[in-house]
Amino acid sequence: MRVLVRHEEIVDICKKLGAQLTKDYAGKQPLVACVLKGACPFHSELIKHIDLDIEVDYIHVSSYKGTESTGTVVFKKDFDIDITGKDLIIVEDIVDTGVTLSTLKPILESKGISSLKFVSMLDKPSKRKVEFKPDYVGKTIEDLFVIGFGLDLDEKYRNLKDIYVYNED
Ligand code: 5GP
Repeated sequence: MRVLVRHEEIVDICKKLGAQLTKDYAGKQPLVACVLKGACPFHSELIKHIDLDIEVDYIHVSSYKGTESTGTVVFKKDFDIDITGKDLIIVEDIVDTGVTLSTLKPILESKGISSLKFVSMLDKPSKRKVEFKPDYVGKTIEDLFVIGFGLDLDEKYRNLKDIYVYNED
């Protein structure tokens, strides 16, 4: 398998995004929420580089892709923290069709939060089925299936420290 993003580059990405978030949220105490399970390693690295009094929480959502442009999101695990009035930052592993986050967005917006931004470690804009643009992106990639650093194939490979292209041929 070919390495696409080395661990050192991922850490660099987290340092850059962390510095940007530190600047953009100066004077605030955002709630930085990880979307289980794939975003866990990225979220864990990223929060080390946010120099603010942040809060952390974890959500687990399942998206059922219905038609090409619609989806349904079910919370397998909701926030532990009451998100009313919070500056919410959602941390995701990868945006592909955009269905999951574009479906999640209005649900979160209806919960009385102060602000909402999305951070994604990877972005595959060429795969979009619905319009969705994460506010912060670690790295934009081609239309490739990737594994490692949280990204799985049937729950395997999440523990790999680098990100690989799975079965390219
Ligand atoms: P979408 O944006 O299509 O709604 O879904 C995003 C989700 O699909 C991601 O959170 C991730 O779980 C999964 N996904 C999309 N592309 C890939 C990929 O290249 N590799 C892996 N392992 N999962 C992916």
